[in-house]
Amino acid sequence: MPALRLFNSLGRKFEDFVPIVPGKVGFYGCGPTVYNYAHIGNLRTYVSEDILVRTLRRFGLETNYVMNVTDVGHLSGDDDTGEDKMVRSAEERGQSVLQIAKFYTDAFFADLDRLGIGRPTIVCKATDHIQDMIELIKRIEANGFTYRSGGNLYFDVSKFPAYGELANLKLEDLRAGARIAIDENKHNPLDFVLWFTKSKFEGQALVWDSPWGRGYPGWHIECSAMSMKYLGENFDIHAGGIDHIQVHHTNEIAQSEAATGKKWVNYWLHAEFLVLDKGKMSKSSGSFITLQNLIDEGFDALDYRYFCLGGHYRSQLSFSPEGMNQAKASRKAILDKVLELRRMVGPAALPELKDLRGIAKDRLARFDEALADDLAVPRALAELWQLLRDPAVEPADALAAAYDMDKVLKIGLADTQEAEAGMDEVEVARIDALVASRKEAKRRKDWAAADAIRNSLKSEGIVLEDGSAATTWKKLQ
Ligand code: AMP
Ligand code: ZN
Repeated sequence: MPALRLFNSLGRKFEDFVPIVPGKVGFYGCGPTVYNYAHIGNLRTYVSEDILVRTLRRFGLETNYVMNVTDVGHLSGDDDTGEDKMVRSAEERGQSVLQIAKFYTDAFFADLDRLGIGRPTIVCKATDHIQDMIELIKRIEANGFTYRSGGNLYFDVSKFPAYGELANLKLEDLRAGARIAIDENKHNPLDFVLWFTKSKFEGQALVWDSPWGRGYPGWHIECSAMSMKYLGENFDIHAGGIDHIQVHHTNEIAQSEAATGKKWVNYWLHAEFLVLDKGKMSKSSGSFITLQNLIDEGFDALDYRYFCLGGHYRSQLSFSPEGMNQAKASRKAILDKVLELRRMVGPAALPELKDLRGIAKDRLARFDEALADDLAVPRALAELWQLLRDPAVEPADALAAAYDMDKVLKIGLADTQEAEAGMDEVEVARIDALVASRKEAKRRKDWAAADAIRNSLKSEGIVLEDGSAATTWKKLQ
């Protein structure tokens, strides 16, 4: 496999990926706040992370993928402003916070499943890890990075000189750009809450005892506490959407390194946004598209995955109905082609990957090179197209390579094996025999017989395509 190169947001440069422990990767991706369905923008980020995890594993790295589920503490503003997202949603729907959390967590993972996104190795809920958060906050406090004000415990960013390094902003710049603190307890607008005791809201649903009083954690601390619990105090990769660089991840770094006194995460990967023509898609605006909306419009969930793969994860992707239609048509063309190859190959076993030679082997190598180049999925997808289109590639070789590519792309090629298995074998054999006898007629230069076979199959809705290596057929839907 080629060397894997990733763009590290920390330092903003491409770097060869070198894991801390050879052959193993600790990877943490910020999970959802489960107060509503995920919108397709959120899901784009998880598709990107899935490609990363599948690539790491393809490259022989045993990957421990940890994802949190935020079910407490996330206010509508990431900077401790606004209302508690979970509490508001529960009130609006007349249910308890825990009911809301359970419902939307299940909905979230059902969406991941439908999108072919592999389940994380560990999924950890914030409410199950309050004690871990308290222990971590105690360390931050003991190291002198906190102050109490108005009943809450705050992180004092002025004590952490490297604050803002990830966002490439100096403390003064961040300060100048920050909104005037609505929270008057803060010494500095960039300071953030580690533990709330004086809730801004009446009847906060979930509260716990702590050294700072009965209350609940700020949002950022959960990611530091849970990632360190499952991956150690220094781990390889942390990812999330690009919106998290400036506040959430910047604060995660500050508090983690304040607690341990050492570097926390080696590589930071950030996925760019899915945007609508009209602008930003957000859960809080109330107008957002879910995966189910697309399915209700007649798309397959994997059409959306395919749509996502059309853009590099570090580029904005513009969502449009036309784009979705195009993605659906392209995916269908790939699946049709694969089905056609399957019919050509018949029940014969496919070659082992190590036995592939020539073009199929080259395409597969280029596919891996594209992935190794900071996950250049559009290029990897182009390799699949070229492979399937090339009449010079043996159908069995093309299939073996395509199925292998689909272990990362996951656009549903494996399903064509099932579709093929469901086809009437006798029917396939009959058509194959007719195609073979037409070939024989052409060899005899008996053009009339060859044309008669072609026309007879055409009347059944089966079209033949003569390639330089072989004749393929497909049944029109
Ligand atoms: P949330 O559930 O709001 O915490 O968001 C879950 C993930 O989706 C985070 O990693 C966000 O950065 C990411 N995200 C939010 N909006 C978008 C968007 N429009 N496009 C891509 N990713 C997004
Ligand atoms: Zn996080």
